[in-house]
Amino acid sequence: GSVDIECEMLVLGAGPGGYSAAFRSADLGMKTVIVERYATLGGVCLNVGCIPSKALLHVAEMIEKTQSSNDLGITFSEPQINIDKLQAHTEKVVSTLANGLASMAKGRKIKVVRGYGNFLDPHHLEVEVTDGKGQNRTGARKVIKFQKCIIAAGSAAVHLPFIPHDSRIVDSTGALELNFVPQKMLVIGGGIIGLEMATVYSSLGARVDIVEMADVLMPGPDRDAVRIWERQNLHRFGKIMLKTKAAEIEAKDDGLYVKFEGGNATAETMKYDMILQAAGRIPNGNKIAADKAGVIVDERGFIPVDSQMCTNMPHIFAVGDIVGQPMLAHKAMHEAHTAAEVAAGTRAFFDALVTPVVSYTHPEVAWVGYTEAQAKKEGRNVDVARFPWAASGRAIANGADYGFTKLIFDIKTRRVVGGTIVGPSAGDMIGEVCLAIEMGCDVVDIARTIHPHPTLGETIGLSAEVADGSCTDIP
Ligand code: FAD
Repeated sequence: GSVDIECEMLVLGAGPGGYSAAFRSADLGMKTVIVERYATLGGVCLNVGCIPSKALLHVAEMIEKTQSSNDLGITFSEPQINIDKLQAHTEKVVSTLANGLASMAKGRKIKVVRGYGNFLDPHHLEVEVTDGKGQNRTGARKVIKFQKCIIAAGSAAVHLPFIPHDSRIVDSTGALELNFVPQKMLVIGGGIIGLEMATVYSSLGARVDIVEMADVLMPGPDRDAVRIWERQNLHRFGKIMLKTKAAEIEAKDDGLYVKFEGGNATAETMKYDMILQAAGRIPNGNKIAADKAGVIVDERGFIPVDSQMCTNMPHIFAVGDIVGQPMLAHKAMHEAHTAAEVAAGTRAFFDALVTPVVSYTHPEVAWVGYTEAQAKKEGRNVDVARFPWAASGRAIANGADYGFTKLIFDIKTRRVVGGTIVGPSAGDMIGEVCLAIEMGCDVVDIARTIHPHPTLGETIGLSAEVADGSCTDIP
């Protein structure tokens, strides 16, 4: 068939994995094309993920701060919420960043083709061209011939099969649009995305119930950290139903009627104005005709890769959510750089020891490397040093004395192998623990590093002092 565009590097998808891969490829001298079905670059993360959610969490934090300011001697009146302005705020944050990405792509002479890409064979991709917001197929098709390819087609929200189609039932994308503040809302799924959105909507005034099949909220970090989050949050939510599932949902004109089943189900049928499905994400591996390119996709839709991000086809790479857990933007970006470098002929490897995870709830929970539970499960000989924020001057001044910082370290070598922080700005601080692990620091290295006083970040130095027995700051 005829070929419309030829390139050295084709990147499928323009999320953090895709744009990072494309930018690095172009910087390394490859003629690069990006295929993306959305109208803007940035993928899930920028358009309907990390960034808009943080814009809304910032709003939520502003509201919470005014509500807890009484004890500081300041009283604000009830918040008045202007949905249009709130949406405009989020849109501006997103468009500022999207414009930045567009000009970075342009500056590198990267060609962006809008549309749905499907492989035709190991060196050709067909694009069904889209217009508008990137959702409408125009009927036009373009064939791109490529020498090498990086697949960064990401993931999509799981839609539970028994849930009816109704505009009041949304996934994270719909929840981020924030068209209205419901009086009563149900969040299905107690993972990070569900809890972040529950935080936003409850701050805006919704009464939020949470239903979760597993026996815990926020799986991943140590339970002592989650307990702190719970203590700060349980009062703001309605029912929290663990080991329970939403079994039946009926959409009626006057509301969404839900029946629950399992462990902590209420017997009564509950009525909601809005339901958020946040029950996980599935990779898009089965939606790109990967088989035509000869690329293996596993039964869950992930594309297996080696430590150079290479698929079973030596000239085709894959990065980001589509290659596996954890589905996080920063992981995607680092994998993308490796893929581009290897494609350009460099001997690069993806060899990060650890990937941090952050729940941007209030308070934030951030963790990296080994948790205590994981170390125990694997029988690793570790010790734990914990610094309670009740002994941090800054935390007390900021009203955050409930938080803590803890380091997990190897008993013999004293090397740091993990860390967990819970409290405001935990996510901003966890980077130091990541660096410590990557550099093979032992606790003395951190303990002897002068941290600024009084800061929350100082608690990392202080927990290292707890670890090496030199801490004089805890009563
Ligand atoms: P994606 O960002 O999913 O990008 C894939 C792109 O490929 C999309 O733009 C898609 O349109 C395009 N595409 C797919 N198939 C095709 C095709 N056939 N043709 C053309 N284009 C195609 N992660 C964090 O690290 N921090 C956070 O705070 C965070 N918050 C999140 C909040 C929410 C609500 C959600 C949903 C996710 C969040 N994530 C967060 C996860 C993060 O968004 C993903 O890990 C990240 O976007 C993955 O990047 P990616 O490049 O692999 O894929």
